[in-house]
Amino acid sequence: MAYFDVVIAGGAVVGSAAAYFLSAHPGFTGSVLVLEADPSYASCATTRSLASIRHQFSTPGNIRMSQFGSRFIAQAGEWLAVDGVAPDVGFHAAGYLFLASADGLAALQANHGVQRQCGVDVALLDRQALALRFPWLHTQDLAAGSLGLSGEGWLDAHSLMHALRRKAIAQGVVYRAARVAQLRRQGERITAVQLQDGSEVACGAVVNAAGTGAAALAATAGIDLPVQSRKRCVFFFHSPAQLPHSHLVIDPGGVYFRPEGAGFLCGVALPEDQDPECFDFEVQHTLFEETIWPALARRVPGFEALRVQHAWAGHYDVNTLDQNLILGAHPAVSNLLFANGFSGHGLQQSPAVGRALAELLVAGRFETLDLSAFGWQRVIDGRPMREINVV
Ligand SMILES: Cc1cc2nc3c(=O)[nH]c(=O)nc-3n(C[C@H](O)[C@H](O)[C@H](O)COP(=O)(O)OP(=O)(O)OC[C@H]3O[C@@H](n4cnc5c(N)ncnc54)[C@H](O)[C@@H]3O)c2cc1C
Repeated sequence: MAYFDVVIAGGAVVGSAAAYFLSAHPGFTGSVLVLEADPSYASCATTRSLASIRHQFSTPGNIRMSQFGSRFIAQAGEWLAVDGVAPDVGFHAAGYLFLASADGLAALQANHGVQRQCGVDVALLDRQALALRFPWLHTQDLAAGSLGLSGEGWLDAHSLMHALRRKAIAQGVVYRAARVAQLRRQGERITAVQLQDGSEVACGAVVNAAGTGAAALAATAGIDLPVQSRKRCVFFFHSPAQLPHSHLVIDPGGVYFRPEGAGFLCGVALPEDQDPECFDFEVQHTLFEETIWPALARRVPGFEALRVQHAWAGHYDVNTLDQNLILGAHPAVSNLLFANGFSGHGLQQSPAVGRALAELLVAGRFETLDLSAFGWQRVIDGRPMREINVV
């Protein structure tokens, strides 16, 4: 039976970030195997992502992960170059603009306080300032907005994932096209993974980076991972409206939009009671007609005349306890590490999480950024660490 020191189940952006950071860690001398069920990556969250990064979260841990994500993305060409060829991950710097009506003002201000304490470059704008700065925006019903001034923006998710993967391979990581069907558990350890074809690979440790497949995989080791697949639809439209400033705007009701090429991308964060577990890829066109378009046209009158060009659906891996990452080993199984439940912000967190997983595997602790608050204990205790700013 083949043996690898570390087996990573799932080779999209999180699995590849873990593979890259682990193989780059000066204290690591072992072997790494990444098992990816679908090497076309056609339907994983990474490929279907909006690929945006922000520092405007409500919890310090999420802010700090994204701050590292921004630094990593800015230097990706340097860090991930292979044979002198630097990848271009297509980063476009642009701030998020969170809008609040009167009843959302207190939360916006509280978030601003946390963000400033973490050194986020962000400004609170009152209604007058919003109207002056963004003359295309309908501001009558707004109380304020929170605008990211630096560090935020969007990138090419596919390029980041492939750059991580390419660099990991150059550093000795092995990728194989295979689905992990079963984790072989003996007491407190995973001793091997069984693949769909029935073969087995023995291992020293396993990382679960299987996205929306993570809960099913965890169940094969007897672990109940509270992560569900929730559909998100993204629409691309053209509009005659000219918006000279490039921002990702989040309306108080949850509808968001940002520029993309000659048009705009948009979508909406659904309320919990309208957001069932879902695995299909059917685009919910009624969502656009009934919810998104009216909100867009109200906020930017010029969007009344927009035309949808195309749309797609993808899935968030939602942590149903608190919409935050679950990171690290479950206390019952010491060599099975989780990085799941990203709930829509995993692309930007992948560099920080990949680095954290490498540290846990090599040193058994966080060496740079302490992410212990994202561990299993809060899940086991039923103590949510709720993130308010979910888009
Ligand atoms: C519409 C949409 C918009 C988004 N926008 C943003 C955004 O703006 N910013 C942001 O930061 N994040 C965003 N996200 C979230 C982000 O894309 C995800 O959090 C992130 O890509 C998760 O990466 P992952 O590698 O964990 O999972 P995935 O990309 O889903 O990859 C999991 C991989 O595991 C493989 N796999 C599954 N089961 C197995 C198995 N048993 N064995 C082997 N392989 C397996 C799958 O084939 C897949 O390739 C968005 C997501 C969606 C859907």
